[in-house]
Amino acid sequence: MRYTAQFLLSAMAASQFPEPNLAEIAFLGRSNVGKSSLLNALVGEKAAKVSSTPGRTRAINFFSLLDLNQRKKLIFADLPGYGYAKISRSISAGWAEFIDPYLAIRSTLKLCVCLVDSNVPPQENDAKLFEWLRAAGRDFVVVATKIDRLSGNERTRNLLALKKGLELEEVLPISAKTGYGVGELWKRIEAVGKVEE
Ligand code: GDP
Repeated sequence: MRYTAQFLLSAMAASQFPEPNLAEIAFLGRSNVGKSSLLNALVGEKAAKVSSTPGRTRAINFFSLLDLNQRKKLIFADLPGYGYAKISRSISAGWAEFIDPYLAIRSTLKLCVCLVDSNVPPQENDAKLFEWLRAAGRDFVVVATKIDRLSGNERTRNLLALKKGLELEEVLPISAKTGYGVGELWKRIEAVGKVEE
């Protein structure tokens, strides 16, 4: 099924979140992991552009996903990319104020799509995030981005290293560039969003 994304709003505080009345999918990852490119591959350029507009990179950007009949089916929530710095109490500076609360209490949040770079070894801040999501009882799927950059052997090796290092049962390889894995991710999203005709 094809969707188009319609920008809803940028929230910098919990009071600004949209009405919780549709299944929501959140996208999380470190800066430069390929989140804009993946959003682009999933729903087209518009969402990626809005999210990378200066001033909106530190907000949660919400999008409505419309089906071919212009019916609102899902919400995508694009969370700010978190940093490279070692983290102590929270995942990254600024998270404690409204991103932690969003992930903790958002009633309509059905799935977190967490991005890790398939070219980069397991990172501590990703591990912390997954630990946090598990403790919060959130369903999440981890995708390994930019898989097109790796040869067959490297793919196998890096995916295994990510699974081990981040204590994951599954990592979905994906490429925004070639479209590899994008259909599979859509399946996961549609399954939890219970999107029906
Ligand atoms: P963001 O900061 O997480 O939104 O990351 P971007 O989507 O802006 O991507 C960061 C860099 O990685 C850019 O130079 C992209 O062109 C590159 N990139 C993103 N996705 C892919 C991919 O699937 N394959 C390849 N080869 N490069 C990618």
